[in-house]
Amino acid sequence: YQAKRRGGGYAVYTQGGEERLAAITLETALNRALERQEFVLHYQPQWEARTGRMVGVEALLRWQHPELGLVPPADFIPLAEVTGLIVPIGAWVLRQACEQAVAWTSLAPELRMSVNLSARQFLEPNLIETVTWALQTSGLSPERLELELTESMLMQALEALGTLHRLKDLGVRVVVDDFGTGYSNLAYLKQYPIDGLKIDRSFTAGVASGLPAAGRDEALVKAVMNLAGALGLEVTVEGVETPPQLDFLREHACDYVQGYLTGRPQDARALGALLEGRRIT
Ligand code: C2E
Ligand code: CA
Ligand code: CA
Ligand code: CA
Repeated sequence: YQAKRRGGGYAVYTQGGEERLAAITLETALNRALERQEFVLHYQPQWEARTGRMVGVEALLRWQHPELGLVPPADFIPLAEVTGLIVPIGAWVLRQACEQAVAWTSLAPELRMSVNLSARQFLEPNLIETVTWALQTSGLSPERLELELTESMLMQALEALGTLHRLKDLGVRVVVDDFGTGYSNLAYLKQYPIDGLKIDRSFTAGVASGLPAAGRDEALVKAVMNLAGALGLEVTVEGVETPPQLDFLREHACDYVQGYLTGRPQDARALGALLEGRRIT
């Protein structure tokens, strides 16, 4: 499904162009979605490359629409961002993710919960209060919460450094998502209090692929891992889809991996079953 700009608002169309939400704009539908509790989180496992241990999950938002089914974030987050709806939606995500992490504590006491922040949320004056509220209402220990921010958010926000310090003061982890795709000024890496980098999956795709671009992608991924290591940052490589990619990353001392090979995003029930299975083995 696609969201298309239309007149003053948006409407949701199917691939064939058939209008589904008639007069109701996507914005109105999004507003109701929050009230009607139609949002759900799926969770994708993150593994320590060296040991093969599951160390965390990334919470990924979906909209369980009554007629359209499971709508991916790319179809509604851009509009939620423009309208500011991402602020209440993002607060819900934070709280839900923290509560889920607490619910899994007996199965996985140290499991980290990674949550994506949008630019709008990062700029919001209430961000620190919202994160504090999510931690307090859920009872999650702060070191188990990881926030994923993008390079462009860090570059564009005047208050970025101050906000990062206040987040670090709460005790949460902060990582740079989609590393390598945004602003290429690396100076922030020495200045900002961040814990890690997530190498974007566009770089992972070529690794150990045999494609013409393979050598370059491999060189880039290795270089970023070296750079991060030298700066004391941990590296997650996302979009790991094949066994040769995983072998390559292990050989080159990658910290964490995430991708379809080692686990797709899945609902809380399925991820819970995966955690239970791991405990038995
Ligand atoms: P992202 O943060 O880069 O999340 C990773 C995306 O890559 C996810 O797509 C995930 O399903 C997908 N992915 C994971 N492993 C693989 C793989 O091996 N191969 C490929 N091709 N893809 C893989 P998803 O869930 O559709 O999310 C898309 C984007 O939407 C996210 O990109 C993130 O930027 C945004 N998003 C998701 N949830 C939230 C949220 O709660 N808040 C905010 N602000 N943004 C979110
Ligand atoms: Ca992410
Ligand atoms: Ca990413
Ligand atoms: Ca992304």
